[in-house]
Amino acid sequence: MLKIAFHPAYIYPVPENHRFPMLKYELIPSQLLYEGIITKNSLFEPKKVDFQTACLAHDTDYVRHLFDATINPKMQRRIGFPWSQQLVDRERYLVDGTIQSALFARQYGISFNVAGGTHHAGYDYGEGFCMLNDQAIAATYLLDQGLAKRILIIDLDVHQGNGTAHIFQNSRAVFTFSMHGAKNFPFIKEKSHVDIELEDGLTDDIYLSLLESNLKNLFDTVDPDFVFYQAGVDILETDKLGKLKVTPQGCKARDYLVLSSCRHYNIPVQVSMGGGYSVHIKDIVNAHVETYKAAVDIYEF
Ligand SMILES: [Zn+2]
Repeated sequence: MLKIAFHPAYIYPVPENHRFPMLKYELIPSQLLYEGIITKNSLFEPKKVDFQTACLAHDTDYVRHLFDATINPKMQRRIGFPWSQQLVDRERYLVDGTIQSALFARQYGISFNVAGGTHHAGYDYGEGFCMLNDQAIAATYLLDQGLAKRILIIDLDVHQGNGTAHIFQNSRAVFTFSMHGAKNFPFIKEKSHVDIELEDGLTDDIYLSLLESNLKNLFDTVDPDFVFYQAGVDILETDKLGKLKVTPQGCKARDYLVLSSCRHYNIPVQVSMGGGYSVHIKDIVNAHVETYKAAVDIYEF
């Protein structure tokens, strides 16, 4: 059974000038349903993550200020959105979506969150439109509950998973891997356990061979019992922010490499969607839908 976290709050609370990239959160499940890849039974509505759970990966004071509307203007500017109750609620829904999806992944091998991949949120700060780091919180939740012992986070969004790296910089239980544009945001990078920096204009063949060799090493050396995959599609050549030249076929091949490795090693994987800013929204939605198709194909749903 393919279980996918989706909540209407994923879409609507976003300020007008940021709404375009957010439309995908409505269009992805619509397209999956329209194509018959999933049924309505696949979709589940998360709840709002509670304070204590959010604090598993974040500083208590930071989370308190976020939840009770006392976050300072400087931090609001770093996040990129002015504080609003609806935006904090949205973030809390998507974090629980990733936690619940991680639990479904333990049951079914793989599970998705239509939103999430908020990898710029660090231990005591929000950044780049990310307030709470969904996969970091879900990873600490699995550890806290004794449901995993060694977690690998594979972040293939074109932007470095700096927040995730910041949270787990001294962790021995969570291993962070990020492959990202060397000259892209964030301009001051954190240190993941393994960072692969990509030159502008990189094409499919080099991208995929770099990924393939690193994946093999990671699975062999880290030996994880759970994987989180941040599957941002801002690596596409059509992306306004990406600076790479990866084709839709290359992006699809990337997903096949990651998901078939998880299947091969029999390690549950939770997938969050991450970034995507192609000029035409259909390019974003199609690339994300291909990730679900890869899962349906590899896991024989
Ligand atoms: Zn990104």
